[in-house]
Amino acid sequence: MKSFIPPKRTLMGPGPSDVSPRVLEAMARPTIGHLDPAFQKLMEEIKILLRYAFKTENKLTFPVSAPGSAGMETCFANLVEKGDKVIVCVNGVFGTRMVENVIRCGGEAIVVNDEWGKPVSIEKVETELKANPDVKIVAFVAAETSTGVASDTRTLCKLARAHDCLTIVDAVTSLGGSELDVDGWGIDAIYSGSQKCLSCPPGISPVSFNDRAIEKIKKREKPVQSWFMDLNLVMGYWDGEGGRSYHHTAPVNAMYALHESLLILYEEGLENAWKRHSEMSQKLREGFNAMGIRYLVEEKYALPQLNTILIPDHITDEAAIRAKLLNDHNLEIGAGLGALAGKVWRVGLMGHSARIENVEKCLAAFKAVMN
Ligand SMILES: *Cc1c(COP(=O)(O)O)cnc(C)c1O
Repeated sequence: MKSFIPPKRTLMGPGPSDVSPRVLEAMARPTIGHLDPAFQKLMEEIKILLRYAFKTENKLTFPVSAPGSAGMETCFANLVEKGDKVIVCVNGVFGTRMVENVIRCGGEAIVVNDEWGKPVSIEKVETELKANPDVKIVAFVAAETSTGVASDTRTLCKLARAHDCLTIVDAVTSLGGSELDVDGWGIDAIYSGSQKCLSCPPGISPVSFNDRAIEKIKKREKPVQSWFMDLNLVMGYWDGEGGRSYHHTAPVNAMYALHESLLILYEEGLENAWKRHSEMSQKLREGFNAMGIRYLVEEKYALPQLNTILIPDHITDEAAIRAKLLNDHNLEIGAGLGALAGKVWRVGLMGHSARIENVEKCLAAFKAVMN
């Protein structure tokens, strides 16, 4: 055996996205102790940068030392207690995982289903809120990576608040890629991931909780079942006031990478990053349209960072096309998931991947392979 040298790919699938050389370089710096004062300073800066990216003043904003799915579990494990009724909106794969989380936490999931490729229906959620006055939480995916659909997070949060419910929002694909305003929209608990529009290697999940969410957690009758995810314990490590105590060993180098990727976002400016994603997506759309390729999602609901295109009818072996893109062009795109398997391809323009070079490379590769 020899050292592993990965092939040079262009990552334009649903994540991970291309990691910028700056982030890779940061990650390769020497490991220091996770309680070293210098590392603690880095932790403080990461929290500040995450508050910027989430647009929040929430004190309880930090990165969970595990992938997006662990951020998801952190939200559900802490907020859902046995018997709690939770409205879960399902319009793609990640909504179905939220349902599973609610059930495993002992909660009762009231599922609001919408067609895959359509946003969450505000009317249906309102109907369930009226029919179930004892609902405690509304959970939904802001940016469904399985379909490429953006739901109306602002309106859903307003609606939930009007019915005295907390919100749990999946922003794994949203953060850094399209508009998100945690405080302005009144999001109570939110989780994201490092490997989508932050363009950091996978394995870290930024989360944020406001005072309403913390109040519910403090009033829990039973401790959180998961020791690792129990926020009361994790905060002894991430809070920093009065000195940090050992909870787990943070993935030190992964935190260097997260810090660098957040710094890149800060330097560019959040709004500029959203604009860049939207402009690149527009260019990609023009190119695909010129090739006669159609989109799954109506343009007004389409995510810029995840473009779901319909596989043309004459393509009989879609996996062969993806293999050819990968083998001949070093280009990774995503297959359809669940109900959309074999029907769509998912082309990501996330973070460092949302550049004109990538758009051009992708269109040229598609042209070559489809011919
Ligand atoms: C990728 C993704 C997740 C899961 O993140 P992992 O890092 O793969 O665990 C959850 N929700 C959405 C919307 C995602 O796109």
